[in-house]
Amino acid sequence: MVHAAPALGGVSPVGVRFTPALVGVGRKGHVALTFDDGPDPESTPQFLDALDDIGWKASFFMLGEMTRRDPGVALAVAERGHEIAVHGDVHGNMLRRTPRHAGDDIRRAFDSVSAATGVEPRWFRPPFGISSYASLRAARGLGMRTVLWTTWGRDWRREATPETVVADVTRRYVDGGTVLLHDSDCTSYPGSWRSALGALPRLADEFAARGLTVGPVGDHGIATRAA
Ligand SMILES: [Zn+2]
Repeated sequence: MVHAAPALGGVSPVGVRFTPALVGVGRKGHVALTFDDGPDPESTPQFLDALDDIGWKASFFMLGEMTRRDPGVALAVAERGHEIAVHGDVHGNMLRRTPRHAGDDIRRAFDSVSAATGVEPRWFRPPFGISSYASLRAARGLGMRTVLWTTWGRDWRREATPETVVADVTRRYVDGGTVLLHDSDCTSYPGSWRSALGALPRLADEFAARGLTVGPVGDHGIATRAA
């Protein structure tokens, strides 16, 4: 599996410019916490409980396919006060799709996520962080802004542990940054979500020590110029 790492600045191989807004740089003192690939009836409820224990709200970038499989768990994420966002319908590379297929995938995802949660999502993150012009345009047409991440836990790997997730998250830009974790293993090593789950209390200690508050992308103060 290939995960692309967006830089804080620069240009992707397809010419999409990585602006600070696109990678999710927000206000100082704040961290945006995001989860991709759910909702998953096995793992997501455990994340909801852990987030309640810590007192954090986060953004969940959902797969349309997963919300159709279990709309109840998608609704639970919304009812527990988290921000609902879109990750695509099936977990595919936007560059391997025709513009029309990419647009159809994002629309189907938007419709399924909205139907399951009762929320109109405002944020989109393409699988693997690979944006095409067609995906950016389709998301914008649905009222969503594309946001990637500034740092991640590399929690999808077989070797990942709570300790490596904390080390990977804090290795890169955290203050004012956007953190990517996964609340499902549907595209990664089976059970790998446990490393992200186990990392949450440690990240809470780490962020508290740095005086950082944590919340969803919508509270992150990302510049309003459209990505
Ligand atoms: Zn993903």
